[in-house]
Amino acid sequence: MIHLKTQEEIELLRENNLLVSATLAEVGKHIKPGITTLQLDAIAEQFIRSHGAVPGFLGYGGFPNTLCVSVNEQVVHGIPSDYALREGDIVSVDCGTIMKGFYGDSAYTFAVGRIEPEVQQLLDVTKEALYKGVAQAKAGNRVGDISAAVQEHSESYGFSVVRELVGHGLGRNMHEDPEVPNYGAKGRGPLLKEGMVICIEPMINLGTKYVVFERDGWTVRTRDRKPSAHFEFAVAIGKHGADVLTDFSIIENALKA
Ligand code: MG
Ligand code: MG
Repeated sequence: MIHLKTQEEIELLRENNLLVSATLAEVGKHIKPGITTLQLDAIAEQFIRSHGAVPGFLGYGGFPNTLCVSVNEQVVHGIPSDYALREGDIVSVDCGTIMKGFYGDSAYTFAVGRIEPEVQQLLDVTKEALYKGVAQAKAGNRVGDISAAVQEHSESYGFSVVRELVGHGLGRNMHEDPEVPNYGAKGRGPLLKEGMVICIEPMINLGTKYVVFERDGWTVRTRDRKPSAHFEFAVAIGKHGADVLTDFSIIENALKA
């Protein structure tokens, strides 16, 4: 069932998602060749706790860390490790918080130094696909309108959409109804209503859409080992459009500074 949120609840979700954005900004400042993904995890955990929240992923379904850190061909759910980032890598960082009874959940894919032009295009197009999806996130539309917008934009560049993992409702639980796939048909799926809060999170691959679930029980990677990108927003469905609860400008301003 889909839980509709009151405006007060949406504000608590906004607080969480702005904290996630600030955490991703803090992590982003440290993304340089040589830093390990476990060091990034420690920075995020300390930042979240110092702001009065609890990491949302730590212990969720038994996940061992604060961040999901997925490098290059890893799509999502990568476990932080002693892997040191290298020039030319891309790193998808997915972060969650719990504060005042609600969750935050957003993701951003960062470049480590200079990256190949086609990989930069993958990052740009995946983020644009997210924005195309957000533009459809209004009352009266259906989930399929979001899905189709994400898919059409991504595939128009020859990239492919991961099928096995989808966006979701967000609230007192990290994964609520409805599911929000990144592929599908316009006009299909659950009706979007004012007060719904959903995460839209395209996972877009440079090569094949097929993925492999690694034996660590978490990491998902592309089957052809080509890179994958992931950007995620939490949005509230408003009468006249999406109220985006995540703020990438915090991250992007930190990267420019
Ligand atoms: Mg996430
Ligand atoms: Mg999510």
